[in-house]
Parts: sequence; structure tokens; C-alpha cells
Amino acid sequence: MTHRCGHLYCKADENYKHYALHRILDLNDSMPPLPTGERYIGEYHIYSCPGCAAQLQVDLYSPSLGGDPVLWDTRIA
Ligand SMILES: [Zn+2]
Repeated sequence: MTHRCGHLYCKADENYKHYALHRILDLNDSMPPLPTGERYIGEYHIYSCPGCAAQLQVDLYSPSLGGDPVLWDTRIA
């Protein structure tokens, strides 16, 4: 996969997110408080190009629900 700036991430059968800049933002630090007073269980995973810093993708992930936090957008079989 190649970005418009020419940065080469990885082979087509790999997840480019493992090669991108990755920032995690807890929803409790970025959203208004819930009316119930409960805490958010999610976090934003923000991926950017290491070549030009363009934002590529934002995923919402909840650690308490489990699974792989690095989601696949498209997987070539
Ligand atoms: Zn780029």
C-alpha cells in the first residue's frame, strides 16, 4: 500500500495500520460527560501517514469488549 505522498507502508496482504502513526485518544478525555455520570468505555484509534502526517483512519474501539484493537478496513484474500 502506498500513500499519495509516496510513503510505502507494506505489502497488500498486510494491515497498513501496523505501519502507520497510531495515536489513542480516550473518549473520557475528548467527549462531554455522560448525563448518567458513567465513564465512556471506548477510545479513538487515530492513524496517520508517517510520510506526510495526513490522517488516514479513525476507529472506535472498546478495550473492555475485547478483540484486536487494530481493525482491518479491507482484507485481500
Ligand atoms: Zn502520506
